[in-house]
Amino acid sequence: MLKKKIKEILVGSNNEGKIKEIKDLLPKYYTITSPKDYGLKSPKENGHTFLKNSLIKAKHFSKKTKKICIADDSGLEIDLLNNQPGIYSARWGGKKGDFNLAISKVYQKLSKVDKNWKSKKIKARFICALTIYGLKKNPIQSQGIVNGRISNKKLGKNGFGYDPIFIPENKRLTFGQMQQKIKFKIDHRSKAYKKIKKFL
Ligand code: IMP
Repeated sequence: MLKKKIKEILVGSNNEGKIKEIKDLLPKYYTITSPKDYGLKSPKENGHTFLKNSLIKAKHFSKKTKKICIADDSGLEIDLLNNQPGIYSARWGGKKGDFNLAISKVYQKLSKVDKNWKSKKIKARFICALTIYGLKKNPIQSQGIVNGRISNKKLGKNGFGYDPIFIPENKRLTFGQMQQKIKFKIDHRSKAYKKIKKFL
């Protein structure tokens, strides 16, 4: 088998949890860097879709560094909240990206809409859009979805973001309670990644 030439891939995110998860998906023959290694801040995510925002990030970081960049834009949609927080998932954590704050906000909003929500099945889904920029003439994009429901308690310390309150379909544990390798088999990010991994 021909050994692939070692190349660098920049993971276009300043979210440590996300960088780690994307790094674990990528082939090991790549040297993985992040915007922090180049002293770069994230661009304004002013797109209205996950796909557009992942393109904004991948293009921004690739143009600034002249490297191949893979960027993800992802988030949680909750049916009862009209698909909020959606593309604003990170922003619900405030300037410091406090996930506890974001989760409290979810619980507060659910209680406002239905005070008995805790005894109901609150349908939700995680969505992940990925863009690879700088590898081919045109950006390569894909999207992955995992359906599930909201746990009425925060459970587990694994993962990041909303993982402690998301129970994927046909499972009993939250992503926060699952081992990383189990989450990776079914989650939105790995589903999106599977669609474009042939390019890498
Ligand atoms: P952004 O794509 O960097 O704008 O932010 C996505 C946000 O969605 C994260 O900061 C998390 O709050 C949430 N999110 C995305 N994917 C996951 C996941 O796999 N687990 C938990 N939270 C996630």
